[in-house]
Amino acid sequence: MHIQLLMTGSELMRGTTTDTNSVRIADALATLGLAIQRKVTIGDDLALLVRELQAISREADVLIVNGGLGPTSDDLTADALAQAAGDTLAENADALAHLQQWCGERKIALNAANRKQAMLPSTAFLVPNPVGSAVGFGLRLNNCLVLCTPGVPRELEGILADSIVPQLAREFAGCEQQIILRLHLFGIGESQAQDMIDKAIPAWPDGVVLGFRAGMPTVEVKLLVRKSAAAAAQPLFAQLKTILADYIVAEGEQNLQAALLDLLAAQGKTLACAESCTGGLISSMLTEIPGSSRAFTAGFITYSNAMKSGMLGVSEQTLADHGAVSEPVVREMVCGALARSEADIAVAVSGVAGPDGGTADKPVGTVWLAWGTSAHIHARRFQLGGPRKRCQQLTAAIALDLVRRTALGDDQEPPYFARWAV
Ligand code: ATP
Ligand code: MG
Repeated sequence: MHIQLLMTGSELMRGTTTDTNSVRIADALATLGLAIQRKVTIGDDLALLVRELQAISREADVLIVNGGLGPTSDDLTADALAQAAGDTLAENADALAHLQQWCGERKIALNAANRKQAMLPSTAFLVPNPVGSAVGFGLRLNNCLVLCTPGVPRELEGILADSIVPQLAREFAGCEQQIILRLHLFGIGESQAQDMIDKAIPAWPDGVVLGFRAGMPTVEVKLLVRKSAAAAAQPLFAQLKTILADYIVAEGEQNLQAALLDLLAAQGKTLACAESCTGGLISSMLTEIPGSSRAFTAGFITYSNAMKSGMLGVSEQTLADHGAVSEPVVREMVCGALARSEADIAVAVSGVAGPDGGTADKPVGTVWLAWGTSAHIHARRFQLGGPRKRCQQLTAAIALDLVRRTALGDDQEPPYFARWAV
């Protein structure tokens, strides 16, 4: 099956928007075992859109178009598809009904600009959008199934799950489906993971493909498995877990913080964090997971020395003697967080995220972490590289992983201490 993407939007060409939608589409198709052969990105230019729709539809079996479904004058997809197909635009009754319902639910009047979204190629069929105002639509052009999808990422996600994936599953009913077995690793690079895996598993059976995705802060390792190879893949996946055990922080659709929250909830334990250089990032990562209140009780963002004392009871003398980025301060921050939140486990971070503020003693990237329970508190100094944001992300991930290890009762030094701890 030959599948292509046509990503549209001048913001993609200018670089003001990063094209994350094609990644979402590729992920969604991968669940069906479908791969994308080619993707083209163009700005909001009618003539160019028409040309690409015609050219791609001659070579592909499926073309997924993204963006330009909205009500504004730079939204040209319907017009371009009509022209490419030698069709005219006509008000689509179902699309209009969808718009009326959408506006009705929001108690807003249907205006002329909105109404434009119901103007579709007269031969188009609808691709229902469960989330937004614009409906998706499609038609067959040069024997290619052209599907037009909204640019707003949340709407795209909705339409992929509700409409596109089921439609393509029907379209390719003869094709074999694929399952994906995922592991999320922290503290190891892609190449090192690849190396460790290659040494243990030099070859993969037919229908099992090893894949990687480097993210920040975790690396995803996955097995793409044809249904017919599922039985052969299971012991290999178990072997992967053994090989990478020191680095695995989550499995499947979970991420580091979701897996940690599940672990804490299963143990009936609670967590609090005291953040300086991460400015609430750790708390934010935790609370982005639905149901985080099962295990997360408090995040203290104590950026100034006065607040480290005021909110967490860090002694002014300690701050004066050692500075905010120091072992005694993070230890007192953890004690304060434990005492004030009554959580079972707490973690505290204080560091120099940069780009300024470094000194000879404490250069940019110096971070002190303390973590533990009222029975035992650990502290460690780290030297992290990279720009401010990366330093904060890495600090947050280390903090969450150290809490995870504490909850598991794992007293070994994580392997990444060799890289980042001093
Ligand atoms: P709207 O109704 O908002 O006009 P639309 O379907 O016409 O929706 P676009 O106008 O192309 O979509 O894009 C809407 C917003 O979605 C853009 O401002 C941009 O932030 C985001 N967006 C568009 N394309 C992408 C993409 N490829 N990756 C990530 N975000 C995107
Ligand atoms: Mg738009």
